[in-house]
Amino acid sequence: MMSEVSENLASLKKKIAKIAVKWQRNPEDVALIAVSKKQPDERVRDALEAGHREFGENRVQEAQGKWPGFKSEFPDIKLHLIGPLQTNKAKEAVALFDIIQSVDRPKLAKILAAEIKAAKKDLPVYIQVNIGEEEQKSGIPIDEADAFIQECREIHGLTVEGLMCIPPNVEQVAPYFALLGKIAARNGLRKLSMGMSGDFETAVQFGATSVRVGTGVFGTRTS
Ligand SMILES: *Cc1c(COP(=O)(O)O)cnc(C)c1O
Repeated sequence: MMSEVSENLASLKKKIAKIAVKWQRNPEDVALIAVSKKQPDERVRDALEAGHREFGENRVQEAQGKWPGFKSEFPDIKLHLIGPLQTNKAKEAVALFDIIQSVDRPKLAKILAAEIKAAKKDLPVYIQVNIGEEEQKSGIPIDEADAFIQECREIHGLTVEGLMCIPPNVEQVAPYFALLGKIAARNGLRKLSMGMSGDFETAVQFGATSVRVGTGVFGTRTS
């Protein structure tokens, strides 16, 4: 019998592909990151057994309890850090994650670059942009983004692959996704991580190359 998680994954992938085609994009250019924070291990296992390999977590400590075991069992897992990273957790984050999407300030960029170098690991990063200029949200301010991207690349030698954002909680998110795309384009970045359970359709329309879906894959979070 198919698990509920595997059914959710299949129907989401279908939906993403349909929207991609509608907007004249290649469905293969949109990855589905299953956000497993605060989800029980059984649901994560359901996703793995359905063949899914791309996951997101927002806290280093929580991910450390869950992922080393799964990663040794399924070596092709691709684990994204999508939540705020404290500099004192940078080393542990580099050891566990395959992509870090939440690089948002010079001090973190510097320490992260040193840890990546020390670990001799090929670890791409995304720059998180505070696209709604919200005080309570992480992310580099919009007007500092270009300079920060350049600093990450040229001074710290980070492999900057793309941009990530969490738009404000409003009805019309399209302008925020469009703006992130514009900042990426003018900096020669091709990857855009944007869109969650409630707004991934709009994100795909506006060029998302990864959508980060939690409850839409796994159901309600357990804590
Ligand atoms: C939790 C989380 C998600 C997934 O949110 P859902 O609404 O459950 O799809 C996506 N991105 C980030 C950064 C998150 O923290």
